[in-house]
Amino acid sequence: MTQILLLACYELGHQPLSLAWPTAVLRQAGFRVTAVDLSVSPLPRETAVSVPLIAIAVPMHTALRLGVQAAQQVRALNPRAHICFYGLYAWLNRDYLLDGLADSVLAGEMEGELVTLTQQVLNSAAPSVPAQPALVRLSLPVPERSGLPDLSHYARYEADGVMALSGYVETTRGCLHTCRHCPVVPVYHGRFFVIPAATVLADVRQQVAAGARHITFGDPDFLNGPGHALAITRALHAEFPRLTFDFTTKVEHILQHRALIPELRALGASFVVSAFESTSDAVLDRLQKGHTVADMAQALTILADAGLPVQPTWVPFTPWTSLDDYLAMLAWIRAYNLIANVPVVQLSIRLLVPPESALLDHPDVADWCGPLDAVNFTYRWRHPDPCMDELQKRVAALAEAAGDDPQANFTAVEQIAYGINGRVPPAISPVSIPQPVPPRLTEDWFC
Ligand code: SF4
Repeated sequence: MTQILLLACYELGHQPLSLAWPTAVLRQAGFRVTAVDLSVSPLPRETAVSVPLIAIAVPMHTALRLGVQAAQQVRALNPRAHICFYGLYAWLNRDYLLDGLADSVLAGEMEGELVTLTQQVLNSAAPSVPAQPALVRLSLPVPERSGLPDLSHYARYEADGVMALSGYVETTRGCLHTCRHCPVVPVYHGRFFVIPAATVLADVRQQVAAGARHITFGDPDFLNGPGHALAITRALHAEFPRLTFDFTTKVEHILQHRALIPELRALGASFVVSAFESTSDAVLDRLQKGHTVADMAQALTILADAGLPVQPTWVPFTPWTSLDDYLAMLAWIRAYNLIANVPVVQLSIRLLVPPESALLDHPDVADWCGPLDAVNFTYRWRHPDPCMDELQKRVAALAEAAGDDPQANFTAVEQIAYGINGRVPPAISPVSIPQPVPPRLTEDWFC
């Protein structure tokens, strides 16, 4: 009989590593685990009714919304079960969760604590409540994926009109950097933990055996440990010369590690995700991104020279982004031939300020930040120019109903943005950096 039920709710269309790793650790410790991805499978009601411990993975905002609904469901089915939330957003929102919904919250390198919690719950001992996220180096086994839905249930890799199954691994957890708006920061505080290459490669191997032809390196920043990233991708390419991969890295790292980019491309990198965020240096400074708009242009040149397409991600709506800034971002994307590289949902994203966000430490916080909206896991804020909030709503509505043509979508956003105060989109001359058309995953990134 199952001793612990692990639930995942949504992980950007990837087979959830947030289930596969805890499952491996718990089984290694001798526990009977059932892991269910609710984005693919229904809640196993019979198990939920009888299991003593239910742990819900919430690594991101959308997952937390769904996780709260799942917790309410399982609480109704099994009022005596211990419900634990784990992951970044569990920690940030622990006050809300622990006020009647969850019995415990874990985050960081938490698999060891989950084992302890399971022992305590099964022994009817009082669970120890961690005062901090776990920041200890674990010896993690290879993720256990055998009971999860197969890769055909998840986002596909699409290149040149051909779709392929795609896998997902992580080579590090946490992040060396402290960008103010990032949910990783209040949990990892500028630290990251390396997963041994042999473990990562074994995880890739099992996903290739399951049909993956492309791998996403889902580290918060793949180039926090550039030597580690290179060693893994060299070994990967030697074993699977036709396997492609994507990774996420910051603009600063593209510049700092420019010498590695051509080799990563040659080893199979087919696109890179990079958080450009804004074309306003003032906003980038506020977010403490560690790059400028000029750096973004330089990063594009480095990537284009290596033939490596980029998918820049954005936070276009912040309290500090004016309408002129937004229009400048649209003009910049058009001028740098990046329209096909930016899913329209990216143009609608509004800054989230979760509890514990480092943005709240800024001395002028009272000028822009409203009260905590605990149920929605964010502090409220309103733009000083009401037309920006209206614009965000209209772009979000457009993104929700958008079709597949990136040029048409982008033009529609331009029309809304310029039209909001009666302007007409100007003609924009492209700058002379040809951008390779990016392959993509069929699930667009958003938080
Ligand atoms: S580099 Fe990325 S993951 Fe790291 S703190 Fe900044 S936004 Fe977060």
